[in-house]
Amino acid sequence: EDDDERGEEYLFKIVLIGDSAVGKSNLLSRFALDEFDINTKATIGVEFQTQVVEIDGKEVKAQIWDTAGQERFRAVTSAYYRGAVGALIVYDITRRTTFESVKRWLDELDTHCDTAVARMLVGNKCDLDNIREVSTEEGKALAEAEGLFFMETSALDSTNVQISFEIVIREIYKNIS
Ligand code: GDP
Ligand code: MG
Repeated sequence: EDDDERGEEYLFKIVLIGDSAVGKSNLLSRFALDEFDINTKATIGVEFQTQVVEIDGKEVKAQIWDTAGQERFRAVTSAYYRGAVGALIVYDITRRTTFESVKRWLDELDTHCDTAVARMLVGNKCDLDNIREVSTEEGKALAEAEGLFFMETSALDSTNVQISFEIVIREIYKNIS
């Protein structure tokens, strides 16, 4: 008897972290709703979006959490991280300071979650290649050094958004099955 027949469900909590305005909320709305918003809405209101993904014929629910802009005050609470089994650490390829913050976000993640968390480093806004401040090689090198998956994305034109979330979800599934 397999899990489906028992009606068992997989629910994975995944958190989005990274500096303010790197595109976390837009990555989530692109993934879950296929929407993009040109304006920053700091108080977007939703805590998370749930997206169903099929893996090995099984329905997996990814509950993806977004900050309500509190990262501006370095005050993402432990409740935000509680129970997370996956994380996307996002920086903006056009702002080097957001890349330099990645280490701090990884420390924060380590403080609140155990090491089994599936982690993906995401260099967002790759549509803005003409004003890039962080090379793809630098992103790759950091990901390799820290043992993270790596992807450059654009929430604006959808590049690699779906696949980034799916890689994390698959890794979580692999870890538990
Ligand atoms: P958050 O603070 O990390 O949640 O960032 P937001 O999702 O609110 O995005 C901040 C700003 O960057 C907004 O003006 C977005 O329209 C813009 N933005 C987000 N993702 C992209 C992207 O992939 N490309 C471009 N060009 N702009 C983006
Ligand atoms: Mg946001």
